[in-house]
Amino acid sequence: MSDRPDVVVVGSGIAGAAVACRLAPDLAVTLVEREPTPGLHATGRSAAMLNETSGDPVVCALATASRPFLADPPPELGLAAPLLGPRGLLWVGGDGTGDQLEALVAKAPWAAHRVDRAGARELVPSLADGPTAAGGVHEPGAMTIDVAALLDGYLRAFRAAGGDLRLSAEVARCTRTAGSGGWRVEAGPHRLTAPLVVNAAGAWANAVAAGAGLSALGLQPMRRTAALVAAPDEVAAWPMVMDVAGRWYAEPETGGLLISPADETPMEPGDPRPEELDVALAIDLVNDALGLELRSVRRAWAGLRTFTPDRVPVAGPHPDDPSFVWLVGQGGSGIKTSPALAAVVHDLVVGGRDVPHDLSPARFV
Ligand SMILES: Cc1cc2nc3c(=O)[nH]c(=O)nc-3n(C[C@H](O)[C@H](O)[C@H](O)COP(=O)(O)OP(=O)(O)OC[C@H]3O[C@@H](n4cnc5c(N)ncnc54)[C@H](O)[C@@H]3O)c2cc1C
Repeated sequence: MSDRPDVVVVGSGIAGAAVACRLAPDLAVTLVEREPTPGLHATGRSAAMLNETSGDPVVCALATASRPFLADPPPELGLAAPLLGPRGLLWVGGDGTGDQLEALVAKAPWAAHRVDRAGARELVPSLADGPTAAGGVHEPGAMTIDVAALLDGYLRAFRAAGGDLRLSAEVARCTRTAGSGGWRVEAGPHRLTAPLVVNAAGAWANAVAAGAGLSALGLQPMRRTAALVAAPDEVAAWPMVMDVAGRWYAEPETGGLLISPADETPMEPGDPRPEELDVALAIDLVNDALGLELRSVRRAWAGLRTFTPDRVPVAGPHPDDPSFVWLVGQGGSGIKTSPALAAVVHDLVVGGRDVPHDLSPARFV
C-alpha cells in the first residue's frame, strides 16, 4: 500500500468501484470510502434494472453501451453466475399519453415496441382500464442486475490489479501540493498524495469539491422510496410495470413485488428513511393500476438519486482544474450505466481523449 498512488478515487459505490476497476490495470489507484463497507448508499438501495428506454436519450445510450459488459462481464470480475436475469419491462399509459409512449420507442426502437391494451394484458392480465387506456410499450430484453455481485466483481478485479481500497476513510480535504501539481488528500487516518482525484462521492460530491476549494455542480439529491410487499404468486411471471407519467412502478422480486411511488423529494446528502405516506401512496397507485389488493409491507427503504440540472451524468474534468475529475449525477441509472461511464473516465485519464460534451461538466459553464 503506497500513500503516493497515481489516482485517488473518492467513494466506493458502483461509480467509484467501476472506475477504480477500470483504471487499476494501467495506474496505481487508491479507492477511499467513508463507510466501513462499500455500496451502503444509493448503490445498495436500487431497483437493479437494466433497460434502454428510461431517462434522457444520453442515459439510454449509456445503458445500451453498458449492456455487452453486463451481459458478458470480463473474467477478471470472477463472477460465478450471470449478472443479468430475464425480467422485461412494460410501460403503461392512460388517456393522452400516446406521445410519451411513442417517445419511449423512439429512444430505443431495437429494444422496445408499442403494444395495445390487449397486448399489455397478455403480459399483466389484471391491468386496470384507466392506466392502460393508451396501451403500452414493451421492452422484452430489460433485465435485472445482480448489483451486489457487480460491485463485488468490480472490487475483486480492482484488488487483483493491485488496487488499494481504504474503508472508514472520509475525505475531509484535498489541498494542492506545492510545486508538483498534485493533491494531498486527507482521508480519515490516511494522508495520500496523487496527481489526480476522481470524485465519485454520489450525493456528497459537491462537499468533496468544496473540500478541494473548487466550485460545485448543480447537483440535487432526491429521495426515492421503495417497498417490498407480499403479492400473489402469479406476479413472479410479470415484467416490471412502469407508469409512463412517472407516478409509480412495480417489479416482481423474490418475496413479492417491489413497488415505488417514483417520488423525487429534494434532500440534503444523508441517509434517508422511507416515509409511511410514500409507501401508502405506492400501495394505492399500484393496486389501482394493477388490479391487486396489496397490503402487507415486508420491508421499506429509501435512497438518494442525485441529478444534475439536465439529468444527464457528469464524467469529466473540473473546468477550473483538470486534475479533479467528476463522476457524478447518475440519478436513477448509475448501476446500468456504470461500465460505460467508467470507460469514458478511463479514456480521459489513460487515453488522453476528450470526454463527450454531453457528459462534460463544461456544459454547465
Ligand atoms: C430506489 C432506487 C432505485 C434505483 N433503481 C435503479 C435501477 O433500476 N437501475 C440503475 O441503474 N440505477 C438505479 N438507481 C440509481 C443508482 O442506485 C445510483 O445511480 C447509483 O447507485 C449511484 O452510485 P454512486 O456510486 O454514484 O453513489 P453511492 O452508491 O451513493 O456511492 C457514493 C459513495 O461515496 C461515499 N462518500 C461520500 N462522501 C465521501 C467522502 N467525503 N469520503 C469518502 N467517501 C465518501 C459514500 O459513503 C458512498 O459509499 C436507483 C436508486 C434508488 C435510490
